[in-house]
Amino acid sequence: MERVPFSLEEIEVLRNAIDISEELIGDRYRISTSDWKRYRYDIQSLCQLAVDEVTDFAFAQILRYTRHPDEKPLASRHGDYFKICLQDHVILNVLRRDPKIRLLPLAAYIVAHELIHVIRFATFVQRYDAALREREEEERRVHALTYELLKDRKIEGLKEVLAAFSDCRAMETFLTRS
Ligand SMILES: [Zn+2]
Repeated sequence: MERVPFSLEEIEVLRNAIDISEELIGDRYRISTSDWKRYRYDIQSLCQLAVDEVTDFAFAQILRYTRHPDEKPLASRHGDYFKICLQDHVILNVLRRDPKIRLLPLAAYIVAHELIHVIRFATFVQRYDAALREREEEERRVHALTYELLKDRKIEGLKEVLAAFSDCRAMETFLTRS
């Protein structure tokens, strides 16, 4: 699979999708601006990723670091840090194959879905290293939560994205680094 990163315009659309998702999730989970700092995560796209953070088999890869990569080894721990690695080329491939699917609603769906995972891991609602069956149940749950979060939003093309992706397909892969 050719690994084409988002263009500058597509990065702008992605930023918009991240804003929409963070705002909806902030409302839904009652996270204030200062509370957001407790959730240690970054959302990065393909050109920011290291080779081993790239996958061709999912829209995203979530890396959990038990320590932030910039944190000094002896600094006090602040809890897990999550790096949400978006796989531009996998996302663009879907857009190329299905003209009904648009980037803004698809990116909003993916980002909201991944953020819900991160919040559930960070607040220990869900264990990161759960067994396969529990992970599959969690995936269904997170799809349902993402659907609920987005379904009434007025985003052009959202209906098509919800119809195509709010089933039980696996959206991401998970890795742990210490
Ligand atoms: Zn998921």
